[in-house]
Amino acid sequence: MAPRTHRRKKVAASDYQAVLEGIAARVREQPNRGKVATYIPALARIPKTKFAMVVKCVDGREAAVGDADELFSMQSLSKVFTLVMALRQAGAGLWHRVGREPSGNRFNSLVQLEYEQGVPRNPFINAGAHVITDCIVSHDAAGKQSILNEVRRLSGNAAIQFDLEVARSEREHGHLNAAIAHFLKAHGKLRSDVDEVLDAYFHQCSIALSCRDLARAGSFLANGGIDVTTKDRITTARRAKRINALMMTCGLYDAVGSFAFRVGIPAKSGVGGGILGIIPGLLTVAVWSPGLDANGNSDAGVRALELFTTKIGRSVF
Ligand code: GLU
Repeated sequence: MAPRTHRRKKVAASDYQAVLEGIAARVREQPNRGKVATYIPALARIPKTKFAMVVKCVDGREAAVGDADELFSMQSLSKVFTLVMALRQAGAGLWHRVGREPSGNRFNSLVQLEYEQGVPRNPFINAGAHVITDCIVSHDAAGKQSILNEVRRLSGNAAIQFDLEVARSEREHGHLNAAIAHFLKAHGKLRSDVDEVLDAYFHQCSIALSCRDLARAGSFLANGGIDVTTKDRITTARRAKRINALMMTCGLYDAVGSFAFRVGIPAKSGVGGGILGIIPGLLTVAVWSPGLDANGNSDAGVRALELFTTKIGRSVF
């Protein structure tokens, strides 16, 4: 008798559409959708009722539901794309400047940085993101414009812009970020001028894109480093694997464990309410809903992703 194998049914694009519609209906029924980030006043105005979810398969098929073309603030999602750029510029030497462990502290904490002498735990906490952005601005005179161009290229949407009101708001309320950057500089961990690094960082966070843009922009991470639409090699397969690993272990603030438990895929969130999830070899799934849970992750977004991996019967586990 042939050995029994654990076969996985292929989910058709039309099925993804039905799955997303089912999830959107469930989310609509849920009255409580967290709290919109208020520490950046420009974000506080977004209605909590917004919801979008987009799937981009590695074979190019796409499914979308809700406010999929409405723009929202990228915030910490930008850290995935700046990491890809910095690895391209600095290679593996980048890992001497930033670690690869979950922090177990708030994303903007100074405490850990102090007792670890200015080597941030990972590229997704703010201190790590400042080191990554420093790497970009010190290699590339175009700095923040190159970050914007990278997001445009990866999403295939040349109309994506910085939201200058959000960037200004970030700067005005960015005292903790400034403290972190000055601390890094004092320890000799930033090469560029502090103000230049902060300016690029606030602008990268302010990039306004849609859920559809996000799902497309992340497609190379599900596809061994190759952009699904253009077939351009964005990063090596090895780096794509490593970035996915970092998303899995450090991508959801202080809720990586419960997100892995509930959803089971690498993902990165931002306080604008976006989450980018990756099922390597299969698809990217982007979700946006601006109400955040106590950990700063999109409340409806996490729930929607949990329903998604449950319904399609796929995760990385
Ligand atoms: N611009 C935000 C900050 O640095 C990013 C927050 C986030 O999405 O984690 O405070």
